[in-house]
Formats: sequence, C-alpha cells, structure tokens
Amino acid sequence: MKGIIERYRSRLPVTDKTPIVTLNEGSTPLVRADLIAASVGLTAGSVFLKCEGSNPTGSFKDRGMTVAISKALEAGAKGVICASTGNTAASAAAYAARAGLRCVIFVPKAGVALGKLAQAIMHGAQIVEVRGNFDKALSIALGRAKDLGYTVVNSVNPHRIEGQKTAAFEIVEELGSPPDFHFLPVGNAGNITAYWKGYCEFADKRPRMMGFQAAGAAPLVLGRPVKDPKTVASAIRIGNPACREGALRARDESDGAIESVTDAEILSAYRLLAKAEGVFCEPASAASVAGLLKCGRHKVPLFGKIVCTLTGHGLKDPQTPLGFKHRRLTYAAGAKRLPLARKP
Ligand SMILES: *Cc1c(COP(=O)(O)O)cnc(C)c1O
Repeated sequence: MKGIIERYRSRLPVTDKTPIVTLNEGSTPLVRADLIAASVGLTAGSVFLKCEGSNPTGSFKDRGMTVAISKALEAGAKGVICASTGNTAASAAAYAARAGLRCVIFVPKAGVALGKLAQAIMHGAQIVEVRGNFDKALSIALGRAKDLGYTVVNSVNPHRIEGQKTAAFEIVEELGSPPDFHFLPVGNAGNITAYWKGYCEFADKRPRMMGFQAAGAAPLVLGRPVKDPKTVASAIRIGNPACREGALRARDESDGAIESVTDAEILSAYRLLAKAEGVFCEPASAASVAGLLKCGRHKVPLFGKIVCTLTGHGLKDPQTPLGFKHRRLTYAAGAKRLPLARKP
C-alpha cells in the first residue's frame, strides 16, 4: 500500500514541491472483535479494532509524522524536536533519519516504555532525559526549539493533526459509512482532535466521539490540569493536554463524552484483547476498549457500528506483561509428559 500522503494527497497540505518522506504508513487493519461485542451485548460484526500498531514504527504517530517531517524538509528545517512519552519520539526519530534531518527528543526520565527507547536509539535521535513528567518535557522542548531553529513535531504542529485525520478516512471507506461510536484513548488529545476533523471532512453522518483518559491522568474529565499524573498507561500519562480545545470540541459537537477508566480497567481490557481477540496492544491503547466495556456495564445505549482505536503495538512495552503472574514449565530431558494445566 501507498503511504497516507499518496493515498489522500488532495486532502493534505502538500504540493508538487513537497518532498514526501514516507514509510508507507496507514492502511492499517480494521479487525472485527466479536467477543468484545458480545461482552457489551452487541451482535457479531458490530465492534471493530483499528489496529494502529501496524504502522511502520508501531503507533498512529506515523500518520502525522510523515506530513510533519515532509513539511519540515520542504521548509528547510535543520532538524526536528519534540517531547514525548515515547511513541512520538520513536516516530520522529525514524522519519527524521529517513529525511536526513537531526532529531532531538525530550523524554520524561523513567517514563518511557523500553521498545520506544530502543527505537529512538536505533534511529540515531539525540535523547534528552528530563527530570519530571511529559508536561515539563514539552515546555522545555518548545523553549529549546526557538534557539535551535528546529521544527517542533509534537501535536501542536498542525501537520500532525492533518496526517492523523486520515485514520478516520480509512474507517469510513472500509465500513462504507462512518461508525456510530468511536472510542479512543486521550492523552495530549491530538488524536481525538484529528479523528473528529477527519470525520467532519469526509462524511455527512458522524460518530459520537468517546474519549477515555486514565483515572490518574484525567485533566479533561476533572476540568483542570493534573500536577502529577499517574497511570500504568505511560502514553497517556499527561496532566495538561496541549490539544484540550480540540478534544472538548469533538466531544461537544459529536454529542460524545470524555470519561476516565482506572488502571485496573485498562489492564483488564489489555489482557482481554490479547487473550480473547488475539490482538496485543500497549496499555494506553486498551483505554479505548476499557471505555467501551465501561459503557456496557453502565448500560449506556450502544448501537450500530463501533470502532475502537488501538493506538500502539503491544511490543512497545514488553515490561508490563512480564510483571503479570504466569506459569512457565521446564522440560526435563526424557520426561514422558508435560504437566499442563487443564485450562491453559
Ligand atoms: C500518543 C498516544 C496516545 C495519546 O494520543 P493523544 O493524541 O496524545 O491523545 C495514546 N496511545 C498511544 C499508544 C500513543 O502513542
């Protein structure tokens, strides 16, 4: 498949002069999730997972990055800079490497999943650890960008939002019409802003946008910034979302909701997705399905077609599963049988 700029060129801010930096991102699988559907009382074929972990660097960030890096190159930037909980860093590092641009990333010390750090190292980004959380890292990155003359590729960069809206286009094309509900995790709130823009540009009917924050990092639910955001879902551990306005607009204009789910609910959805649907996403991604399951429990009237975005791949964060209780057998040479449990 072509990348998203080739696929949706007329709807994106590029011209014939824009040097396109692509890794053939987008065109990700929309996978039926019948067991999840059943657990909220819906029929088979009504719930779908938009598996954004299938993008080149393993998260939806690639959709925005192909546009942001192409535009930075067109503008003659010397380099790019961002703050990140990991996936923006991994994506920026990969696309900057491909474009031959320098890349500086500010990450919260001890707040980045291993796989994401590995990617940034491999792609040759300059990693700067910040003592503090994402919000602190972002304010430092925005300040440093000016002195360096580098382009900021966080979702405050409007080209990121433009690229990310293409996920909504793909969903409308594949389902034949927009879904009735769209569930997704909300951190810095760029993605919910982008999906809403995409649906508004591409379709007459629009889904209700259902955004979910982690309970310990839920500034949009509380209506005020959270000083010390806490959650197992590091990709949405954000206390002061840069795209707050866009998220609230998506919620209000779509008659949707922005609510929270606890870490226990996130981890339970994370395991259910892997065990029952065969889909391994990272913890933050599971907030979308945790939100859907919560709506099911609270008897929110659900109907029609429902899409949950799974924002990043499970292999991004190998440490969370290793912390779960699991049984490993050792095979003794010559043993006649394996002591398998009755129910695996
Ligand atoms: C970036 C990210 C999010 C949050 O997206 P926002 O646009 O910041 O709301 C959620 N999940 C994953 C895996 C991410 O990388």
